[in-house]
Amino acid sequence: MHPIRKHPLLEFNSNGIYCAQADVYIDPWRKVDRALITHAHADHARYGMKHYLTTSGSALIMRERIGHSLSIETTEYSQKHTIGGVKFSFHPAGHVLGSAMIRAEYKGEVWVASGDYKIGHDSFGNHFEPIPCHTFITESTFGLPVFRWEEESQVFDAINAWWKKNQSMGYTSIVYAYSLGKAQRVLQGIDPSIGPVVCHSAVQKLNRAIHDAGYSIHSSSSFTQWKDSPKEALPLVIAPPASADGPWMKNHKPYVTAIASGWMALRGNRRRRNVDRGFVLSDHADWKGLLFAIEQSQANQVLVTHGYSQLFSQYLTEKGWDARVAETAFSDGFHEVEENQASE
Ligand SMILES: [Zn+2]
Ligand SMILES: [Zn+2]
Repeated sequence: MHPIRKHPLLEFNSNGIYCAQADVYIDPWRKVDRALITHAHADHARYGMKHYLTTSGSALIMRERIGHSLSIETTEYSQKHTIGGVKFSFHPAGHVLGSAMIRAEYKGEVWVASGDYKIGHDSFGNHFEPIPCHTFITESTFGLPVFRWEEESQVFDAINAWWKKNQSMGYTSIVYAYSLGKAQRVLQGIDPSIGPVVCHSAVQKLNRAIHDAGYSIHSSSSFTQWKDSPKEALPLVIAPPASADGPWMKNHKPYVTAIASGWMALRGNRRRRNVDRGFVLSDHADWKGLLFAIEQSQANQVLVTHGYSQLFSQYLTEKGWDARVAETAFSDGFHEVEENQASE
């Protein structure tokens, strides 16, 4: 047993996930002096912190999305940073470029804040590394048994087949995929020999920054480049969900649309989003993946946030875990689909 302290190593207050011993926050939602950032999505990496510490991958995206003048110290995965006697390190979370689970160790006690995570390796090269700890703060975006992902390669086979079929019928294929993470996975995962790939400016901007930083990423055209070049085959267009129904779509008529998102596992969502097709492709762990990560953490306490936290923590409790809900300001529910509306 660890000695009972006034403060737990990480606690939840009105600003974010706080470490009193080091006086730093993880993914704060209000302005603070020192912020450790799990990844660059808008609900985790916010504007207004005096200093940030994050991975070089996340720093690259944050500079692109929030501003180039941010004061950011970067870290490699597994590198130790001692602040107020607490050893912090960042470990691959498999969610999006640069995403990390943050490990905090003080006097032999270890906590891990997961941020968002996804199990396994994906087409973009993201991968997940389980980190043993005493307390695991886990997300639960897809914490219901109905969420079960297929192999990524099967999803891309389906997208490729859909694209070819649309071409044969004279339609352009528009896939909505949020601009950080999903869009790059789609670009890397589809078969580029089928035809040209055209990206919305919000996506193209990030692709270019990612490419310029030395990451391997397939090339794609922007709308203007595509308009100026001879068109042989009908393209696949990758655009953020928030850009749906925008004036840019006129130039791609006639077209059919699809969304790539974990939420497409629920049938009503495709109809609600008014698209022709839904591909179940997520940057989060599915039900089994969440349970796997919790198992692998070997934690004796699990704090659940970000999603179906109530139901998921109840399930864990029934299975004998010491689990409870922790209230945070991370976007619940439609995080994946709505991400761009918050940030673009
Ligand atoms: Zn995220
Ligand atoms: Zn999130």
